[in-house]
Amino acid sequence: MSRERVLWLAGHLVSENAASVHVLSPTFQYGINVFERVRCYLNDSGNQLLAFRLRDHVERLFQSAKILRLRPKYNASQVEDALADTVTANGYMEDIYVHITLFISERGSWTYRGDCEMLMVAVPMGRVHDPKVGIAACISSWERIDDRSISPRVKAGANYLNSRMAQIEALENGFDSALLLNREGKVAEAPGSCIFIVRQGVLITPSVTASILESITRDTIINIARNDLGLTVSERDVDRTELYICDEIFLCGTTMEIVPVMSVDKLVVGHGEAGPLTMSIRERYFDIVRGKVDAYAGWVLPASRG
Ligand code: PMP
Repeated sequence: MSRERVLWLAGHLVSENAASVHVLSPTFQYGINVFERVRCYLNDSGNQLLAFRLRDHVERLFQSAKILRLRPKYNASQVEDALADTVTANGYMEDIYVHITLFISERGSWTYRGDCEMLMVAVPMGRVHDPKVGIAACISSWERIDDRSISPRVKAGANYLNSRMAQIEALENGFDSALLLNREGKVAEAPGSCIFIVRQGVLITPSVTASILESITRDTIINIARNDLGLTVSERDVDRTELYICDEIFLCGTTMEIVPVMSVDKLVVGHGEAGPLTMSIRERYFDIVRGKVDAYAGWVLPASRG
């Protein structure tokens, strides 16, 4: 059995089995929460965990809260301190993620507008997909949520109902991941990641108004492609059939990192193996997150104390 984790809950470090929340809270009753997942990578020397783009994750957490009119009880530096406390308390020395949730801790209605509490858990996690195997994807029969109803820009637990339906349908049909189209019928994103395609050496990704989460990994990749690899990046509408004829496709996200898509709707992408641009970007990504690239030092902060 894995050892009991120490969580950060409402200002205190508590062991996993002792942590509890109010069952009548609107978070439990209606799924009202916003969250972030931050990856912390072991540095090259293997003696320090580095939180990747923590400040950007905290900023997005507050943006999600603002859109849903939730009021965080803690400011950005308190969230950063809590993350350091959580990571330090668990003493991990391997790649982990920290899941940060803002939630309503008291009894209330779905229109609750008081302060939101915070929960953090640190969990060991390496690579979720082998890049050599990649992903077999399909177009979902479900449409991506839309800014006119439930905004995909918000990282809320409830948004994952849409992701869940698409992903479970894909798994039950024998695929590894779904790809969702937006209300306009253009490619949006996968259930937990954004998408890039390569056509004639150009990196193409749906724009931030295409019903996607404003992904931090997507932004990192755009930076790598433009600044380090000198590639042209185009943020534009992507048609479903472009997925069938492009040279490379990959998915990206904090948890997923960068994973090639080998087929879409059973049509082979490119040569059916991880593409060269995908792999160059991926290699640079791992150098950056492990603190090996000085130019990106501002994106990696020590994740623990001492
Ligand atoms: N889209 C969706 C729907 C997601 O859940 C995620 C994971 N957070 C992403 C994209 C990737 O975002 P990020 O790179 O910020 O993790």
